Amino acid sequence: MTKNNFLAAKSYVKQKMFESASQKVEQKIKELRANTPNLPFEKTKLAEVEINKFFYEGKTVDRVMIVLRSNGCQHYKKNGGCSMCAHLNGSPLTEKITHKNYVEQWNSVLDGSFIESSSKDFDLNNYPVVCVYNLGSLLNQEEIPVETVRYIFSTLNQYKGVKKVIIESRAEYVTDDILSVIKEVYDGIVEVGIGVESTDYTIRQLCHHKALEDTQILTDAVNMLHKYNMKALAYVNFKPIFLTEQEAIIDAIKTSTDCFKEFDFDAVSIEPTSLQDNSLANHLYNLGLYRVPWLWSLIDIIHGIYNNIPDKKLDIRLGGYFDEEVLSGSQGTGFQGRNEIFPHMTSSNCSHCTNEFVEAIKKFNMTYDVKELDSVKHCPHCYSLWQETKNIRDSRTIIERIEDILGKRE
Ligand code: SF4
Ligand SMILES: [Zn+2]
Repeated sequence: MTKNNFLAAKSYVKQKMFESASQKVEQKIKELRANTPNLPFEKTKLAEVEINKFFYEGKTVDRVMIVLRSNGCQHYKKNGGCSMCAHLNGSPLTEKITHKNYVEQWNSVLDGSFIESSSKDFDLNNYPVVCVYNLGSLLNQEEIPVETVRYIFSTLNQYKGVKKVIIESRAEYVTDDILSVIKEVYDGIVEVGIGVESTDYTIRQLCHHKALEDTQILTDAVNMLHKYNMKALAYVNFKPIFLTEQEAIIDAIKTSTDCFKEFDFDAVSIEPTSLQDNSLANHLYNLGLYRVPWLWSLIDIIHGIYNNIPDKKLDIRLGGYFDEEVLSGSQGTGFQGRNEIFPHMTSSNCSHCTNEFVEAIKKFNMTYDVKELDSVKHCPHCYSLWQETKNIRDSRTIIERIEDILGKRE
């Protein structure tokens, strides 16, 4: 065998191993999704409305997050979706939400009728930042009709107190057609959050099961948004399954740095993995094969990004589920009566210091000042344990880890 033939054969075997691992992951995800409950959601009622603080133009402002009850993510329906996500738990599986239903949901925001407690008045004008989410891609016409997107943005245009609208979409749906519709009817700032998760091919495709083959799609999406003077926000999932804590920290730093430097995103939101029912991450947690990320690791990540890009003030946010004020939705408190999309476990330290750290994250998100995180005192119960966790090494490749956990190739 010549050297070239040998190299070609080696790369063929590697590719086959990769494909087999990918199929194993997808198979397992689909198996778990079969348990997704088909709940009788009211099609004309919003899934959730929450209020929290947000850093905007150097100031802390109120942000309202509106989650439409929607048709759910197409990637989830077709391929099982991402390994850490189970948003489809909050969408009807058989019934379709129509434009008319969406309009009724949205009108309940405009007239404030969605509020469950009668003692509160609601006026969108009081919220400089408004998030409109649909548990999927707002720019995908298969999930939400164009006329709905047009309606939502044209009505938002009448609320001059609203300065910025944040929506979410997979990168492939960020197209000329849909952005021109928004631009036609809305004058304010629009930011589109795009799930990048990882810029490492193996991690993104195998650990996240993102089905985002080529990062050129990200470049095209960011360029398209900038063409329309819109902002591009990258979601970076911190600690997907199959990675050690330290590998996950390194990946989050590298991915966030790439998002700013290579892909020209305007902002990055680090999203620590949380656990929802019927996700692969949750399944591995139940088997004792996964732990949600440590909050301490976020300090390493923020410093790591600033070490790579020292000369700029960066728009880095820390995502997650912190106790926002819930105006509508059945989330409840202390995880009692939580709604279908709310995770039962989030990124944490130990029971003695998690709350303090979460307060520091909230302050960080109101100021973008890393000192807020640095100032959390080292917990005598868990800080050294976290440091030891970072020393854990796994000599196996990611493919070998998948084979060990989900079974070998046939
Ligand atoms: S993370 Fe986004 S793309 Fe992935 S399954 Fe969830 S909603 Fe769909
Ligand atoms: Zn602790």
